[in-house]
Amino acid sequence: MRETLVLNASFEPLATVSLRRAVVLVLQGKAVVEQARPGRRVRGPAVEVPAPQVIRLCRYVRVPFRRRAPWSRRGVLVRDGHRCAYCGRRATTVDHVVPRSRGGEDSWLNTVAACAEDNHRKADRTPEQAGMPLLKLPFEPTPAESLLLAAGAYGTPGRRSAVA
Ligand SMILES: [Zn+2]
Repeated sequence: MRETLVLNASFEPLATVSLRRAVVLVLQGKAVVEQARPGRRVRGPAVEVPAPQVIRLCRYVRVPFRRRAPWSRRGVLVRDGHRCAYCGRRATTVDHVVPRSRGGEDSWLNTVAACAEDNHRKADRTPEQAGMPLLKLPFEPTPAESLLLAAGAYGTPGRRSAVA
């Protein structure tokens, strides 16, 4: 059973693996535990470790293009939990971080959910130009997650915004 989420070194979700596989990656020093299951530990050959719910790879893995999830407006809204990236209120529109008029693309990393008011206020400017910092950084879901996005059944795991 796949029950542990694997993040890239950049904190982007990559895949889910079995608990056993996750523990092996941690014991081999290839990954670190980002989030453990409370009160549950797994015994390795020599040590005991907290059962990982989320692990992060120590080295960045480049994801081949074919493995990318198709972008959609609906997917962005669901990915962001219908929360505005600028004020945290309910979002119904999708904002381009770098505006399309400035060459910004329809891509996971360039789009965030936004309330209509903030989308209108930001207009054709970058967050810096508009003085509207992002509360949360956009990320690219894995193909598996995008299927869940399409089904509307995706819950955002605990995520840090340590990626600058
Ligand atoms: Zn807003």
